[in-house]
Amino acid sequence: IALCEAKGSPPAQPTRARELRFKWKLFWHFLHPHLLALGLAIVLALGAALVNVQIPLLLGQLVEIVAKYTREHVGSFVSESRRLSIQLLLLYGVQGLLTFGYLVLLSHMGERMAMDMRKALFSSLLRQDIAFFDAKKTGQLVSRLTTDVQEFKSSFKLVISQGLRSSTQVIGSLMTLSILSPRLTLMLAVVTPALMGVGTLMGSGLRKLSRQCQEQIARATGVADEALGSVRTVRAFAMEKREEERYQAELESCCCKAEELGRGIALFQGLSNIAFNCMVLGTLFIGGSLVAGQQLKGGDLMSWWLPRQSMASLSVLFGQVVRGLSAGARVFEYMSLSPVIPLTGGYSIPSKDLRGSITFQNVSFSYPCRPGFNVLKNFTLKLPPGKIVALVGQSGGGKTTVASLLERFYDPTAGVVTLDGHDLRTLDPSWLRGQVIGFISQEPVLFATTIMENIRFGKLDASDEEVYTAARKANAHEFISSFPDGYSTVVGERGTTLSGGQKQRLAIARALIKRPTVLILDEATSALDAESERIVQEALDRASAGRTVLVIAHRLSTVRAAHSIIVMANGQVCEAGTHEELLQKGGLYAELIRRQALDASLPSAPP
Ligand code: ADP
Ligand code: MG
Repeated sequence: IALCEAKGSPPAQPTRARELRFKWKLFWHFLHPHLLALGLAIVLALGAALVNVQIPLLLGQLVEIVAKYTREHVGSFVSESRRLSIQLLLLYGVQGLLTFGYLVLLSHMGERMAMDMRKALFSSLLRQDIAFFDAKKTGQLVSRLTTDVQEFKSSFKLVISQGLRSSTQVIGSLMTLSILSPRLTLMLAVVTPALMGVGTLMGSGLRKLSRQCQEQIARATGVADEALGSVRTVRAFAMEKREEERYQAELESCCCKAEELGRGIALFQGLSNIAFNCMVLGTLFIGGSLVAGQQLKGGDLMSWWLPRQSMASLSVLFGQVVRGLSAGARVFEYMSLSPVIPLTGGYSIPSKDLRGSITFQNVSFSYPCRPGFNVLKNFTLKLPPGKIVALVGQSGGGKTTVASLLERFYDPTAGVVTLDGHDLRTLDPSWLRGQVIGFISQEPVLFATTIMENIRFGKLDASDEEVYTAARKANAHEFISSFPDGYSTVVGERGTTLSGGQKQRLAIARALIKRPTVLILDEATSALDAESERIVQEALDRASAGRTVLVIAHRLSTVRAAHSIIVMANGQVCEAGTHEELLQKGGLYAELIRRQALDASLPSAPP
């Protein structure tokens, strides 16, 4: 059910109360290569903090001297305070150096960790099942790679740098204070745990809010990504206004959530400020009476001022920890998700034994994100090696689904698909997809790079000569050469700067360069005009020779050359035979032919 969350969900989706846990084990995995740097950073930060604790003590002594000179003007203030001032200057210098050091180390390890996390998340996303992507929006996934990693990284850095500084300062000062006055310490020992208890309680509420907030940001990114990615469609429908409003609506609720979170954090900080200030008042009160009773020097009370500040910054930090933890949980969520269909592993048939015979035996299938809906029911099909089989049938009948099962994008719910007698599930999927099957779809998607690289996508180690040969076979060489930049022409995102027929021919070249044993043509020419269809069809006919081919088509003119034709309806085979046989039979196929023949615009109507 969770798989379908993104698909067609209404904008105002109720937020799921699903608890996303921060995976400490994964965090440790990313942290441990940097333990040395972390250790060093901690040591430096501790050093800086200790120096920071020293500074107010010396300042306190200096204040004592100043106070003395305000009372009585004897002796030289300069000579008396020189030693202290030089010490202070030295401490300032050391503190600055240490700060520089630990910040450099932290940013080094923070950036490395963020990079490693992005790499790991990206490769784990790429490994997920196709069913996973059916249910997710790209923008939401991308937002985990960008925003969430960023948020996690900055929280991590802040927690180490500021958190370490503030807490050592607090602890350090408490220690000096406890030496100075046990009574003050006792008071703190009672108050601090109580405050921490309240803080933890508030923290869990804030974490939930923060998670919802990040979820909402991702949703907004998803909307923007979709609109920008399909800007041509948006423009064609003059839907800019609506997309704007959709994005604005998501942003508004983003903003509301963030404000709510902000209010929560503000409340926390306000309360903790009151608490701290009360503590200061209490200290001054108790400390003052000690000073009055000559048990404590006024300057020593100075050492209490700094921890107050540190405690306040600890409470600020707390909000960041909350955000960091929920961002981290989102980053780690998909990292430990393992796909049902692995990318590699399994048997690969040696190329000399590979014949390319394919069978579907009683295959039933429903898409994981629409479990109750059976797309294929008891479907049986045989693709003899080296022969062309056509699959026809009404749109939505499950033809593309057959191709997807053959590519092993999904596994059948029941029944088996075999290649040369081997169950596809026992074969190495990357070998199957990379070397055995060539897939050409109706809407070929190219990458925003050169034509050369696009064709080479089919076989990464192909030589330039191989690319040219494949392009010639695909009837593409001519138009590519006519471009000023030839094979170095960049095709735009998804190949938008090419015509449909050109894109299709590049897709054919890309599929042919891997010399596939089995070729799937899923309505490869149906989006083309008559002229490009002729050129593409010619290339496809040439490419089909000697291969096991599954042609999926609704335009029946393209399937008459097939050795056999399968007519599909409602996920089942309802007729099979050659063109003539099926015409004779006068069933669904004959009906389809008759209907298309009526369409006068069809250039090659059957007799
Ligand atoms: P055809 O290629 O014959 O037009 P398809 O195989 O694409 O048909 O689709 C068959 C049925 O499966 C349709 O009802 C369609 O809505 C559904 N379908 C297709 N792809 C998916 C998917 N990724 N997730 C869920 N249902 C799908
Ligand atoms: Mg289809």
